[in-house]
Amino acid sequence: MNEPLIEVRNICLSYSNERADGLVLKNINLSINRGDFVSILGPSGSGKSTLFHILGLLLRPTEGHVFFHGIDTKNFSPDMHAFLRNRHIGFIFQDFHLLPHATALDNICLAARYPSEISPAIVNPRRKAYTIAERLGIEHILDLYPTQLSGGQQQRVSIARALMHDVDIILADEPTGKLDQKNARAVVTIFEELHQEGKTIIMITHDLAIAHHAYRSIELIDGTIHATHTLKKPHYVPDFIPARTFLPPRLPFHKCLQALFPEALAHIMRNRMKSFLMMLGIIIGSASLIVMLTLGRYTSRKIIQSYEILGSNKIRVYGYPNQNQVATDQAPLVFRSFQVDKDITPLKKKFTDIKRITPMLRSVFKNAAAGGKIIGENRVALMGIGPDYPYITQRKILLGHHLTEFHIENKSPVCVVGFSIAKQLFAHENPLGKLIEVTDNSTLRVPCRIIGVMQSIEKIESTNPPNYHVLVPYTYAIATSTQQWHSMIHEIILQINPKTVSSFHERLHKHFTTRYGNSGTFNIGNDSELISQMKRFIMMFAIFLTSSAIISLCVGGIGIHNMMLVSIAERIREFGIRKALGATDQSIKLQILIETMSLCSFAGFLGFLLGFFIYEACILLATYFVPELTFEWIIEPSAVAFSCFAICTVGIISGLLPALKTKKLNVTEALSAR
Ligand code: ADP
Ligand code: MG
Repeated sequence: MNEPLIEVRNICLSYSNERADGLVLKNINLSINRGDFVSILGPSGSGKSTLFHILGLLLRPTEGHVFFHGIDTKNFSPDMHAFLRNRHIGFIFQDFHLLPHATALDNICLAARYPSEISPAIVNPRRKAYTIAERLGIEHILDLYPTQLSGGQQQRVSIARALMHDVDIILADEPTGKLDQKNARAVVTIFEELHQEGKTIIMITHDLAIAHHAYRSIELIDGTIHATHTLKKPHYVPDFIPARTFLPPRLPFHKCLQALFPEALAHIMRNRMKSFLMMLGIIIGSASLIVMLTLGRYTSRKIIQSYEILGSNKIRVYGYPNQNQVATDQAPLVFRSFQVDKDITPLKKKFTDIKRITPMLRSVFKNAAAGGKIIGENRVALMGIGPDYPYITQRKILLGHHLTEFHIENKSPVCVVGFSIAKQLFAHENPLGKLIEVTDNSTLRVPCRIIGVMQSIEKIESTNPPNYHVLVPYTYAIATSTQQWHSMIHEIILQINPKTVSSFHERLHKHFTTRYGNSGTFNIGNDSELISQMKRFIMMFAIFLTSSAIISLCVGGIGIHNMMLVSIAERIREFGIRKALGATDQSIKLQILIETMSLCSFAGFLGFLLGFFIYEACILLATYFVPELTFEWIIEPSAVAFSCFAICTVGIISGLLPALKTKKLNVTEALSAR
């Protein structure tokens, strides 16, 4: 006895939704044998298509059992259903159900991609498609799109698609319904040929003439089988090959991605304009992100560099004896003032961060006189310095030269004067070699010979204007001082490596307090406080810029997300077709995810390029306004890394949410969606 290929027992199907409420199929019993050519005939609305969906494993009945190759399909998973549809059933629809944006060839090859989780059964789908197309006489229209084809051609394309896998069953729902008589006859002839070759054919129709081409005709009226007519005796029964009723092993995830990637890419390419609009938000978002991050880092680097040039890596150390020292305080050494040989010189050896160092004796509110002229009003400052002083403070010489080691060692009575002193005392003569005398209003008299004049520095509202400085060797300042306090060094100026500014302060302070205990008070002047404040400000600024860029990126992501949702709603029928042909839910989800991820990464890449040119243009523009800047090509690795991370996150989230929404996709409803 020939075993039934598909058998339905006591099938009932009811709908309870807004379209209908009640039984559509009532207690149907039917078995389709191998080699059968069955037509199911019935008026419109009698439940033919519903039965078609049940026989094609597209719809589960409300009650009853469907046996496929003798096995009850009730407990089969949705993936198993998809697999059986894909490998055993060739679907032909009244509406053809071709993907409108794919060529005839791509449409024919579609089923070969699914289920994407298992190894494909066809090695070279395109070649096979061509062979089938040749047989059906449509090989010349393979590059055309469905809208460019006649109804007859479209139906042949869908027959070719049904034949891609070597299926047992051809299941056709009103295949001639949209065709003229000539084409209808041609399609039936194809079915007859396929039947001769051993395929089992189930053809649904409401046309009696067409139905009579079958070997057996089943009449369906109002959801029940009204009559069965045997028209011809089945003459051909091939060997029985049982269906694979288990799922082959799954492919690794990356293979599955590989299988779906071309399909996703093809979809993007087919909808270029829509894809570009989707990408626009991400392009703008990622461009602004990379611009903000890069320019933020670039400007902060430039600002800090310019502060360093101004001497922010200059540190002043003040040390005074502690007036409030208690008798019981233990101190290894008692501090009175800094000693050059014991405190200052060893410091440079101990701290490798120190580049230069100078003692500083500062005595302000002095006057200067020469040749009968005087600069009064206590504007002059007498500074006892070491040879490193001009380098630390970056004071440039205009005439003559700076004080040298020689002058320091020999307590030479020489000086380097500020620009205003030279100008006011020696208006029309060369000040070099001239003698001046720095005095205060009591006994101090410091005579010295000018060996250098410094360039003018304009500092507004300074109480200690640099143009009125008189720099003398600190040794000479000590030797000529009239007060004990002024002969002691209480200030040191250091120039340090700018990178270590913050930790250096603490280390230096610790050094002096362990050495002198409580006997001295040490203050470390904070020129560098300014720079760290500046850094904080710059960081705040960068955070502000970055967050606004991230917001724009998120807006882009929401854009992709929304447009994807809209596009999914528009593509319900497409997904229905894919699922009918064997795509699993996961394939559909993965395809959407791949589409959005590809869009996001490509948009991110375009945004990156755009951003790169924008920030380079900004830098170029800035060089015209800020003469200190020079144009440079920059790529901030941290900015690039952060942007990539942000784009990927936005891409995954905006793709994942719409993908998850497709989970409950009913094939039957999806196929009838417009
Ligand atoms: P036929 O293909 O013979 O014209 P169908 O099987 O398409 O008939 O439909 C049979 C009946 O089931 C019709 O009354 C139709 O309105 C109803 N029906 C079909 N699909 C649905 C559905 N998804 N929801 C509710 N009612 C449906
Ligand atoms: Mg129908």
